[in-house]
Amino acid sequence: MSHEGIRITAKEQQEREDEENRPLPRIAVTPEKVRVLLSEGKGMEIDWVDGHRSAWSFAWLRDACPCATCVGERKAEGRKPGQPRPKPAELLPMYAPPAKPASAHAVGRYAIQFNWLDGHSGGIYSWEYLRRVCQCPECTFSEAETPGAPS
Ligand SMILES: [Zn+2]
Repeated sequence: MSHEGIRITAKEQQEREDEENRPLPRIAVTPEKVRVLLSEGKGMEIDWVDGHRSAWSFAWLRDACPCATCVGERKAEGRKPGQPRPKPAELLPMYAPPAKPASAHAVGRYAIQFNWLDGHSGGIYSWEYLRRVCQCPECTFSEAETPGAPS
């Protein structure tokens, strides 16, 4: 009996996952400076030890929450990290203020956690995760160029 087809698919899937999970150099996932622009309500900026700079709005970070619940919801809805839910077509849309944390604090030496004003706080944003979801033109361009990446 041949399971060739199944094996090839699994292997390709594995290679794709290896590519996504390939380890990043330490200097790429070590922040030199972290700025959480809480009072401005803007977002977070990180200067990495390798010289790269990343910036995210709070709304983006809220929609990229890495907790199991949010990851599961995004998977089920086919959303990428940071991609908001499609707005429901309501006659009288409710005004939803943009997501903002009440506070943020370091988790050990490897992550940051936000206490969102909507009461959510389960997501631990590791430096490595944040570097992988860097939204600078350079990083998002190479992501868009990956063949087969969902657009
Ligand atoms: Zn979450």
